[in-house]
Amino acid sequence: MNQQPSTAVAGAAPTVWGTELTPSADEQVLDLLRSGIAHRFGRSGEEHYVAPPVIARATVERAGYQSSFPQLLGSVYAAPDGGEQALTDLVLPPAACHHLYPLVAGSTLTEPLTLSLEARCFRAESTGEPGRLRSFRMYEVVRLGPEPDVQAWRDEMLEGAAAWLTDLGLSAETVAANDPFFGRTGRLMARVQRSQQLKWEITAEVADDTVQAVASANFHKEHFGEAFEVADAQGAPLHSACLAFGLDRLLLALRHRHGSDVVERLTRTEAHS
Ligand SMILES: [Zn+2]
Repeated sequence: MNQQPSTAVAGAAPTVWGTELTPSADEQVLDLLRSGIAHRFGRSGEEHYVAPPVIARATVERAGYQSSFPQLLGSVYAAPDGGEQALTDLVLPPAACHHLYPLVAGSTLTEPLTLSLEARCFRAESTGEPGRLRSFRMYEVVRLGPEPDVQAWRDEMLEGAAAWLTDLGLSAETVAANDPFFGRTGRLMARVQRSQQLKWEITAEVADDTVQAVASANFHKEHFGEAFEVADAQGAPLHSACLAFGLDRLLLALRHRHGSDVVERLTRTEAHS
């Protein structure tokens, strides 16, 4: 079922699913969520970025996304020199953290590194139930370091995120999950991801009888460290993990739970933290 928001202009065409606008009242909620996340999960003094709506195709390929999730990737087509539209060197970012790995590619880190960013992401979802958005904002905090550090960080972040979302009044549930890997090999990878508990999601109700993941905590092991050649002083690839919040889904969940009292509820919770 597609979510078709009512249009204020009589006779105007309905919005294409995934292209909805954000009213200023919702932007105010998003700003409170951003500062809540920064305050709790991003440590002061560390770098935060805001990403553009496109990313280099080469980066997403290097991250291994195109081979694992070809069904979700959106590409930019254009014809800068005229003629037929063709694939460009840009795609739509499928996950916020992909923007960060090129910053550290080829480097040696002697201490764990934490970076954060907000990105506009796109996934070619085949269904459009409430909260299954094709275009959405993701706020991610990313940690790179040795395996024990990264694993402990991921566990701590997951626990902190679940506690925060519960404080905000959501029926936040932490569940083991897997990414929608493509094809037969993909099903195997999904099973490994689940059995090794590499991906945890925190779910909440975003509409009546509809529960979606509003946050996830992912341990990538040395996948990105290897792909982007980020190593420790001995030359071994570093491990990475990310804590990701789906800002639009959080907004839906909070509106569903608190209606017009969301700002008051967020302000009160943050004042007590
Ligand atoms: Zn990530």
